[in-house]
Amino acid sequence: MIEVDVHRRLGAFNLDVAFAAAGETVVLFGHSGSGKSVTLQSVAGLMRPDAGRVVIDGRVVFDAAAGIDVPPQERGVGYVVQHLALFPHLTVRENVEFGVRGTREERRRRASEVLSLLDMAGFDDRRPGTLSGGQQQRVALARALARDVRLLLLDEPFSALDDALRRNMRAELVRLRNELGLSVLFVTHDLREAHLLADRLAVFDAGHVLQYGTRDEVFAHPASRRVAELTGVANVFGGRVRAVRADGIEVESAGRVWHCVPVAEAFRVGDAVDVAIRAERVILRRGSAVDTGAVNSLEATVVEEHAYGATHTLLLDAADGMRVEVDLASRPYEVLGVAQQRTWTLELPPGDLHVMRAAGSPEPNS
Ligand code: ADP
Ligand code: MG
Repeated sequence: MIEVDVHRRLGAFNLDVAFAAAGETVVLFGHSGSGKSVTLQSVAGLMRPDAGRVVIDGRVVFDAAAGIDVPPQERGVGYVVQHLALFPHLTVRENVEFGVRGTREERRRRASEVLSLLDMAGFDDRRPGTLSGGQQQRVALARALARDVRLLLLDEPFSALDDALRRNMRAELVRLRNELGLSVLFVTHDLREAHLLADRLAVFDAGHVLQYGTRDEVFAHPASRRVAELTGVANVFGGRVRAVRADGIEVESAGRVWHCVPVAEAFRVGDAVDVAIRAERVILRRGSAVDTGAVNSLEATVVEEHAYGATHTLLLDAADGMRVEVDLASRPYEVLGVAQQRTWTLELPPGDLHVMRAAGSPEPNS
């Protein structure tokens, strides 16, 4: 069990963060400068919070009020950053043994164990300078793990590696975590990486955690427009609840009516809301919106297009100026003939429209 509750002022920046986790991978996700690294440093003991508490496996390692501040090397954490700091003049084995307690024999055995765990057996006597970036990062991980850690703190550990290596290292990390049953706090600003690795996701913005929950919860039900935008939801539009029915609600937005099937929240007529839909959930249809007769349909024309190899991102404008972003895999793009046809009927399925209370609008009964 990990409990993090830290507050720290750094000039104009205010860190104000709390979350808890148990034996899982928590991804701290957010833009650069949102406070992810200082949070990790606070857990590692490298940055001293002004207030708060850090508990690792039931042991209080920091408590501002009680005057507890356990030094980094006694916190039982492994800490790996993007630009690793292996000692260049030491061999791989010496790097891994560094900071491990015990007799010479015990330290050597431990180093061999973790090096083979990371498929680096046989590299014992090499110097870091003779290894590839991926191998060096494996050694950095081995060094972090060698001390029998309860918690692994990883701060964008793979971002200096090229794509193929990064993919391997992520898979390696998942395997390690499962084998060792570690808790992991993983910092990234990469949405795909966050999605791949997270059991739980903490969405950081300006020193705060805007939302903390299981990965699927956060991705499927962002708590606010800001979280939706940060987690890659391309389409968000504001409106008001027009009708509440047993099978969903109707939202009016800029003269249009959207049928939505919210599950999580009870809304009332007149509530100010934001409606969000991911670009890949929007459906492209031939024929006019009137002919297809489907709910949540509109006619729109492609005004901008970006090809990313496997996917195409289309920006479409309706006559009244409403803009919708659509992601289409390359195969349906070709089958539909999107390159030849510019005007389409878009369908926004009610179950894919996620409704959020608008920022600043009151909760019911409050
Ligand atoms: P992230 O890791 O999310 O990109 P950081 O946690 O590194 O962001 O930084 C959050 C904010 O804290 C930034 O505005 C940064 O300039 C500031 N900051 C980080 N470390 C220090 C420090 N040691 N002293 C003063 N300000 C700092
Ligand atoms: Mg950082």
